[in-house]
Amino acid sequence: MCRIVFNTIQKHLNNVCNFSRIKMKITFPDGSSKEVEKGMTVLEICKKYIGEALARNAVAAKIDDESIDLTKPVQKGGKLQILTWKDDEGKEVMRHSTSHIMAAAVKRLYPDAKLGIGPAIEDGFYYDFEVQLKEEDLEKIEAEMKRIVKEKQPFERKEVSKQEALKIFKSEPFKTELIKEIEDEKITIYKNGDFVDFCKGPHVANTGKIGAFKLTKLAGAYWKGDSSNPQLTRIYGIVFPTKHELDAHLHMLEEAEKRNHIKIGKEMDLFSIHPEGPGFPFFHAKGMIIWNELLKFWREEHKKAVYHEVKTPIILSKSLWQCSGHWENFRENMYFLKIDNQEFAVKPMNCPGGMLLYKEKIHSYKEFPLRVGEIGLVHRHELSGVLSGLFRIRAFHQDDAHIFMTKEMIKDEVLGVINLVDKFYKIFGLDYHLELSTRPEKSIGTDEQWEAATKGLKDALDSTGKEYQIKEGEGAFYGPKIDFHIKDALGRTWQCATIQLDMALPERFNLTYEGKDGKKHRPVMIHRVVYGALERFLGILIEHYAGKFPLWLSPVQIILLPIADRHAKYCREVIEKMKKADLRVEIDDRAETTNKKVRDAEVKHINYILVVGDKEVKNKTVNVRTRENEILGEKKVDTFIKELFEEIKDKKIK
Ligand SMILES: [Zn+2]
Ligand SMILES: [Zn+2]
Repeated sequence: MCRIVFNTIQKHLNNVCNFSRIKMKITFPDGSSKEVEKGMTVLEICKKYIGEALARNAVAAKIDDESIDLTKPVQKGGKLQILTWKDDEGKEVMRHSTSHIMAAAVKRLYPDAKLGIGPAIEDGFYYDFEVQLKEEDLEKIEAEMKRIVKEKQPFERKEVSKQEALKIFKSEPFKTELIKEIEDEKITIYKNGDFVDFCKGPHVANTGKIGAFKLTKLAGAYWKGDSSNPQLTRIYGIVFPTKHELDAHLHMLEEAEKRNHIKIGKEMDLFSIHPEGPGFPFFHAKGMIIWNELLKFWREEHKKAVYHEVKTPIILSKSLWQCSGHWENFRENMYFLKIDNQEFAVKPMNCPGGMLLYKEKIHSYKEFPLRVGEIGLVHRHELSGVLSGLFRIRAFHQDDAHIFMTKEMIKDEVLGVINLVDKFYKIFGLDYHLELSTRPEKSIGTDEQWEAATKGLKDALDSTGKEYQIKEGEGAFYGPKIDFHIKDALGRTWQCATIQLDMALPERFNLTYEGKDGKKHRPVMIHRVVYGALERFLGILIEHYAGKFPLWLSPVQIILLPIADRHAKYCREVIEKMKKADLRVEIDDRAETTNKKVRDAEVKHINYILVVGDKEVKNKTVNVRTRENEILGEKKVDTFIKELFEEIKDKKIK
């Protein structure tokens, strides 16, 4: 409180009396700096020295690394950063501020509701209350929030003592508990209208600065996540700068729900996850068809690109994991077991096994580049709370490969991998963008090694002519890397392929090769994956295609629908022929109407639906329609099979 009064007096002195103007040095986002009056708020500084537009979009700011409210007088200069929705921290401020507004609305409507906590989360925010609510109440709360937004209540920050805070929150048992746990004697509280909350901030300048929001769901949540504590009501919400963006997001959520791979996986009979194997998916016969097609394609392309496929064991001894560094750095994600009283671990990565294989014999530069691939099954411990369909699992296959080479080969090898990945993603109809991550603060290797490695990756990227982002300092500690982020049909991005240069493992495993000079040298090694985790990639494909797989991947490509029983015999002849041609075909001879059967086939996303009646039997034809309800009409069976062959051969996407 004292500080605010002091600030006001000082501001008054500075502005009105023009008495001993004290200056502070502010460095602006563009790198320039200026001496500005002490006590100006960030908002004032932004308006005066940067621009009205940014001031309008600003949600909070940072000076040096400290986040502050736009309306807080600045006392100490530093590097200024204005946070907007475009920044992750800006999003957090907007989301968290909206949670205050939601809590204020709940307290207006339900004065007896007790407050829990209200943080920003990955895609929105929530607030926990001790209050009874139904889904229908959310609308009422939203309406109240809109009123609070209209009132443009400033978010006022105050510092109070612990004693004062306990007094302010005396009727809030959960808040009281939290205040008591705080070690600091000073507590910051924020007030908007009648609502008071304690938190570190920052928040937007006033409630009118919130964009368009929606309360999305209610859920039960134990206080502090502990089931021995009372269960509170959690309200989730989302917020965006504009209504347009909110609507687009809601539409995306709706689409994403329709495409949910767990739901489609069940409808199409592809995979399942059972309580007996949390995070360990079961693949059904139809799921295995897609799986095997993905692997077949992988093997064909890797053979063309001169890779050797190997297989290393799943269980390996502790000494190996100590040598690789996993024992030290990755142990929490690993599974262990004892065999004959010796400690072993289930592999979380294929690399150490790959290194052992390399060491099996003496290598010469003449073999380089040596490309060794493995579809390895790895296990990683994930907390049960984060498991999600095929996206977050505990056992998965990685399409790893290690490439051993001399440092002169880096550029060409990396370029080769980029081209290979590009070929794969084009086939699946996936757009992507590239990122090059450079040396982080903590790293091993010499400056010279890093320079050569980074230059190799960069030269390869430059020679593709593709755009890429540079992520300064975001490389692995053992080397720079290139990441591919694919974009699915809903515009969501997924990091899948990666090319990583590794200076650590060849060192740790003392890998060598014989150079032209007859001496031993350390090879350069890269790890790379194209699919990444195959299970996850399949999950992404299911959602990307919404279950409508291209013909070459489709578990059921064709279904025959005899109109009456007398057509079934001819249908079976057609099926025989198609099966001989290695096509995946089924028959629906249930006593249902043709319309109903067509609808069911469409739900299963079967590419071609063939209706067979008297005319087709007589003409030795089939009547073809697609799952998109496009009528292709009557076709000779042989002609149709030929067309299918073409479509499969070219891996066409329709
Ligand atoms: Zn807050
Ligand atoms: Zn590896």
